[in-house]
Amino acid sequence: TLQDRLAATFKNLRGKGRITEADIDETAREIRRALLEADVNLAVVKEFVAAVKERARSTELHAALNPAQQIVKIVNDELVSILGGETRTVRFAKRPPTVIMLAGLQGAGKTTLAGKLALWLKGQGHSPLLVAADLQRPNAVNQLQIVGQRAGVHVFAPEPGNGVGNPIEVAKNSIAEAERRLYDVVIVDTAGRLGIDAELMQQAADIRDAVRPDEVLFVVDAMIGQDAVNTANAFAEGVGFDGVVLTKLDGDARGGAALSIARVTGKPIMFASSGEGQKDFDVFHPDRMASRILGMGDMLTLIEQAEKTFDAEQSAKAAAKLAGQGGEFGLADFLQQMQMVRKMGPLSKVFGMLPGMGQLKDQIANIDEKEIDRIEAIIHSMTPTERDNPKIIDGSRRARIAKGSGTQVSEVNNLVDRFFEARKAMTALASGKMPGIPGMPGM
Ligand code: GDP
Ligand code: MG
Repeated sequence: TLQDRLAATFKNLRGKGRITEADIDETAREIRRALLEADVNLAVVKEFVAAVKERARSTELHAALNPAQQIVKIVNDELVSILGGETRTVRFAKRPPTVIMLAGLQGAGKTTLAGKLALWLKGQGHSPLLVAADLQRPNAVNQLQIVGQRAGVHVFAPEPGNGVGNPIEVAKNSIAEAERRLYDVVIVDTAGRLGIDAELMQQAADIRDAVRPDEVLFVVDAMIGQDAVNTANAFAEGVGFDGVVLTKLDGDARGGAALSIARVTGKPIMFASSGEGQKDFDVFHPDRMASRILGMGDMLTLIEQAEKTFDAEQSAKAAAKLAGQGGEFGLADFLQQMQMVRKMGPLSKVFGMLPGMGQLKDQIANIDEKEIDRIEAIIHSMTPTERDNPKIIDGSRRARIAKGSGTQVSEVNNLVDRFFEARKAMTALASGKMPGIPGMPGM
């Protein structure tokens, strides 16, 4: 995964604190590969990576993040901004009915979406009318009728007097019907073809002209991958659209199509469809999609938590002490650092999310949270002087501390010994001699 590869890229970067040009180049290569694997269009990838490099150069390393995390954050922010630059849902007409027209290739999921959208609108107090303007396939009208029945929504189908055999007539007549019967939203389902063709585009354009839709939604299968850009461009040119609906997100597509379409068309992605059931539907969430494209949900969660819980001042003090400035690093500092990491969540989880920590999974699973509670209790039972200068903790002090914290003397011994060892290791880490956990001061 990208996460593992970035971890490898940054193995020798720990403790450096700055992103160099070489780091940026190396990371950019990995990001590029991840985006191509997610099926993002090549031209879009190139442009995107260039933008990320530019930002990485001008961004200062956040104190709570290591270079890999910092670059992932930049990539993620950039993704969210492209995907969500203009997020919105349906814009309703001032004078009903609001007319929504669905366009897209055959099999994209238009008819299924028509039902989902109708149900969603109904839930918001609207009264939608579904319109069967796909007369291309023999079963299309029937399919929409079943969809409408399931959603509990009326379907305007071609019948004598409605414009039998002519989808443009049917669509046109449906508007008059909606006005007559006070449906406030009209959803026009149209025909698609397996590939882009002129006849299909012309028919869609004619339907558009007949119903003058408030919203034309381009419905596209997220699994379409590299073809997404061509298809989107063809529909943008042939029919024009106001928003995008991504379907089949329940599949294993990484969602590159979303980024390609959003970037190339500049149109908002409005809805996401993720299954055959009518409830498998939601407004589009740019952050979720960004995380899906990057395949780094865990890392992103960690970055967010690190930023949230990071106390820059405290960490700078601890780091200075470890570097031999501003007094000695004592048990109180140790406790603070431990608590800071702990705030991010269960330790086993926090460590599990760190890049490069995969090999340590077994040890991580053995981290005993209760033991850490006991360590906290022991440190709390010390006097401030003892915390600042643990060397003075002799036998009688140890006995008193054990009693005060409800632990055994052997546990106090153990902690004091381990503290001296840890401090030695952390001092080496702070002076850059040892690889440690980047961005985790004190660890
Ligand atoms: P249309 O030709 O654009 O009207 O596409 P349909 O609505 O008929 O859908 C084509 C096929 O895709 C049908 O078998 C649907 O059940 C299926 N489908 C539609 N949306 C989704 C989705 O979000 N997830 C999955 N797994 N299948 C979907
Ligand atoms: Mg259909």
